[in-house]
Amino acid sequence: MSKPPHNGPDSPASRGLSSLHPQTLAVHAGVEHDPLTGAVMTPIYQTSTYAQEDVGVHRGYEYSRTDNPTRTALQRAMATLEGGRHALAFSSGMAAIDTVFRLLSPGDHVVCGNDVYGGTFRLFDKILKKQGLEFSYVATGDIDEVAAALRPTTQLVWLETPTNPLLRLTDIAAVAALTRQHGARLGVDNTFASPALQRPLELGADLVVHSTTKYLGGHSDVVGGVVVVNDDRLYEDLKFLQNGIGAVPGPMDCFLTLRGLKTLSLRLAAHCANALEIARFLEAHPVVERVIYPFLESHPQHALAKRQMAGGGGIISFVVEGGAEVAHEVARSTRLFTLAESLGGVESLIEVPAVMTHAAVAESALAVDPGLIRISVGIEHAGDLIADLGSALSLAHKRSSVAAGVSGG
Ligand SMILES: *Cc1c(COP(=O)(O)O)cnc(C)c1O
Repeated sequence: MSKPPHNGPDSPASRGLSSLHPQTLAVHAGVEHDPLTGAVMTPIYQTSTYAQEDVGVHRGYEYSRTDNPTRTALQRAMATLEGGRHALAFSSGMAAIDTVFRLLSPGDHVVCGNDVYGGTFRLFDKILKKQGLEFSYVATGDIDEVAAALRPTTQLVWLETPTNPLLRLTDIAAVAALTRQHGARLGVDNTFASPALQRPLELGADLVVHSTTKYLGGHSDVVGGVVVVNDDRLYEDLKFLQNGIGAVPGPMDCFLTLRGLKTLSLRLAAHCANALEIARFLEAHPVVERVIYPFLESHPQHALAKRQMAGGGGIISFVVEGGAEVAHEVARSTRLFTLAESLGGVESLIEVPAVMTHAAVAESALAVDPGLIRISVGIEHAGDLIADLGSALSLAHKRSSVAAGVSGG
């Protein structure tokens, strides 16, 4: 008799875990001691196929595009961490999002946040629009804008909170209620917060997606994605698409992500503590004009941040005096903060969105301030990170005043 792999909250590995603290869940969720050897860590099942006991009789695994035990463990862990019934893993965050959108048909309408991840916008605007899907882009932080954009054909509302790089928030529960009333579904890209800080399914969302490349993997060593849902029918449809399309992660990548998950709570606690300290330092710094961080009292949606998130996250955006030139100088002068795109790893990164991650939207309404700097705060010691930023800021400022003095004289 073939039985499908245990993949939900009823699996032995997940049973009874729901009452535990997320910090405990992060260590134990999804992982069963290997039935063959007792191996404590889920083995990397590096196999494409599985011997059958008789014609058509197998142990739940037939072919690794369909199911693989290392992937099953990761999927169970992700479902548990997001407080959902089912999770499906993909080869990248984009593959996860693309697979979700294959649920839709030509003529269907989507209301989407107007500052979602650049790759998501590219998928919608350059690829899925050609397939007949229709998109409206609105500031999802304004519930009236979302309501006004809904059409009879709207099947899905899609949003990120906090957004990148301006860290604008959306009230997930409010949009979920509106979306449900309309008979549509709500999808939340929870990459920036991670389930350690925010669990959208508990607030009424229907789908949660992640680029596990960021905080979930957490070590900048693997690309991946995941979708988490509660609804059994929705899960069956997505499972069909996962196998039918085949953008699945390999077992090694699942293993690395699963290993990253174990320290999710610890890492996010460190990211958040460091980021808050650095945000306060930047806010008090004489050459910094503006700091954007959800847990600063100056953030326009500070109250929502406190209500919806367990921490402010690891990303800070700030604007320096002197515009793009000074921003570039700061970004190339730090030593601990590596000049690089991406985010969510244990090591600190710095970038200038206008010419790096957001260069593609430079000419559009979504263009970001050329003097804006985005940092992904790692888990190094806060004092070292502050000293690094402090010396980069004063160096950049000194160079720009010297330059200004020369050209002025
Ligand atoms: C990185 C990212 C993605 C895309 O994920 P990949 O793993 O790079 O494909 C999607 N959404 C957000 C918010 C991201 O930061």
